[in-house]
Amino acid sequence: MTEPERYDYVVLGGGSGGVASARRAAAHGARVALVERDRLGGTCVNVGCVPKKVTWYAAELAGGFADAADYGFAVERPPFDLGALRRARDAYVARLNASYGQTLASSGVTVLKATARFTGERTIVAGDRALVGEHVLVATGSRPRLPQLAGARHGIDSDGFFALDTLPGRVALVGGGYIATELAGIFHALGSAVTLILRGERLLGGFDCTARDLVMEAMLESGVALVPRREVIEVRRRATAELDLALDDGTWLEGFDCLVWAIGREPVSDGIGLEEAGVRKDAQGFVEVDEWQQTTAARVYAVGDVTGRLALTPVAIAAGRRLADRVFGGKPDARLDYEDVPTVVFSHPPLATVGLSEEAAKERFGDAVRCYVSRGTGLYHGITRAKGRYVVKLVTVGPDERVVGVHAVGRGADELIQGFAVAVRLGAKKADLDATVAVHPTLSEELVLLR
Ligand code: FAD
Ligand code: NDP
Repeated sequence: MTEPERYDYVVLGGGSGGVASARRAAAHGARVALVERDRLGGTCVNVGCVPKKVTWYAAELAGGFADAADYGFAVERPPFDLGALRRARDAYVARLNASYGQTLASSGVTVLKATARFTGERTIVAGDRALVGEHVLVATGSRPRLPQLAGARHGIDSDGFFALDTLPGRVALVGGGYIATELAGIFHALGSAVTLILRGERLLGGFDCTARDLVMEAMLESGVALVPRREVIEVRRRATAELDLALDDGTWLEGFDCLVWAIGREPVSDGIGLEEAGVRKDAQGFVEVDEWQQTTAARVYAVGDVTGRLALTPVAIAAGRRLADRVFGGKPDARLDYEDVPTVVFSHPPLATVGLSEEAAKERFGDAVRCYVSRGTGLYHGITRAKGRYVVKLVTVGPDERVVGVHAVGRGADELIQGFAVAVRLGAKKADLDATVAVHPTLSEELVLLR
């Protein structure tokens, strides 16, 4: 072991939160070391947002082939090669990994490729190097959760999804959240027969009822088989490699080529010596932080998935940057406000949302809540046999009808929500939306034309 190296800021984890915070701290003049054991960019770049969105685009293209004849193109859908997509996607991700390395180097951040572990208060061992940080950030992220049941290992998780080279014929997905919904839509559009098993009644718990219902209806209409209110209790693999799933009602679902677990993620907070550093975790292993990202140990902070709050890339980035601004940038009030964070589920069609669902608003504001909803068939589908529908919804509160929630499902919903998130943040009223001239013909205009 070498002599301890001293830094102003030692960052554990080179994913969304760690990289953003390290670079911002370096920009403020701090001496920064970042330790990453795997590929730079973390979950989002390597096995999350980026390869997922690329694959979602492939699924959108597949939908385009299905509609092409209705638009006058005499084309049959050509064969799809998942291996070819994977190679192109992997090459793009490798370019991003390299560019993260270059950007960190040019920002003056020292990057160590090693597994980091606390040995005491703000002292860390990374490979054969010992580091001491005046301040330390834990940004070690999360990993897929797997169930404890017989044969669970025959299934893959979202990391395994990105390693597939051939499209499975019959796929079973377990879960009803973001990942199960997104992967079900992708597999189906690309040509797999999909069965989605969820333990609840509906998909996407926590999202607005109107929005989540349309996603579920669209999924059912597209031909995905949904099995609600069921849990898988055992998985068996036949000699021919097909998988059979035992359900909790005593029935079996049989003959799958691939099983994907999408039942949530758990923090990467074990084996990194948090106990030595005096950093407390909650019962599920998430690092406890206050609104300043401060852990229970002085000058040790945590951001991103490891904290269990809104596991989204822009949240990890924003929390990491604001923390660096506060600690190194002379901005004592800088901290992330976790309210009104916009988010998109990349389903088919996508679901976009910011602020409160109708249910959450009623819980908080009771009878003062008033909602406006518009539904229809999007113009794109005016001439196609496939009838893609949309819904938009505003949730308002009080006599001045302050907008506290905006929800949209439909083609283009993913790109419209960012602007409406600004409006919600600025405290827009329904009257402000009414006073805004529409952009025609778009989905977003529906949100300023609600009656
Ligand atoms: P991570 O990005 O996971 O980074 C943590 C890093 O720490 C990893 O690189 C890990 O190798 C490293 N590490 C862990 N332990 C150690 C150690 N002891 N020493 C050194 N290094 C260590 N979010 C969105 O906003 N939009 C999306 O469309 C989206 N799609 C997603 C799709 C999927 C399939 C998944 C799984 C997630 C998706 N997310 C999306 C969520 C998003 O990827 C995460 O919220 C985000 O990556 C969290 O960033 P982080 O910095 O907290 O952790
Ligand atoms: P989610 O938290 O979104 O959903 C987990 C789902 O698994 C829920 O439907 C839950 O059901 C179900 N579940 C939990 N335990 C079990 C079990 N034992 N058996 C069966 N079902 C179970 O997790 P995901 O894994 O889908 O995604 C992780 C996080 O990553 C997301 O929360 C999101 O923050 C982020 N992400 C963001 C994306 C984006 O921004 N587009 C895309 C993908 C991921 P129940 O509701 O009944 O608890």
